[in-house]
Amino acid sequence: MTWHPTEAASITHQHHQAATTIPQQLTPLHPTSYRWRELTRRFQAYSEDPQATSRQHAGTCRTCLYLDAGLAGQAFTQYACEGCHRTALWHNTNVPRLCLACARYHGVCQRCGGSID
Ligand SMILES: [Zn+2]
Ligand SMILES: [Zn+2]
Repeated sequence: MTWHPTEAASITHQHHQAATTIPQQLTPLHPTSYRWRELTRRFQAYSEDPQATSRQHAGTCRTCLYLDAGLAGQAFTQYACEGCHRTALWHNTNVPRLCLACARYHGVCQRCGGSID
């Protein structure tokens, strides 16, 4: 189990930096465009965290749940956990960085390894 708290903190810091650019990304877009509506919807969900309970239960941070474009294929994909290096199957091609056991153990997001909030 080698997942460092400093790593989680730095990932989360990058996430928060990225999230703060969303309102700027909206500025040049037309409010009726699909992208404007999609970004606005995602940013609102990210800010309000309406699925907080199920999100924390599933071990996913706000960025991965609400902001991830999720353009993943549907095929089961094998991945190696970066914490314990065991291989496991994921339900699509957008594989997580950690297995659920490691994510729970370190209290971080399974998909990106950042802090859960
Ligand atoms: Zn693991
Ligand atoms: Zn995450």
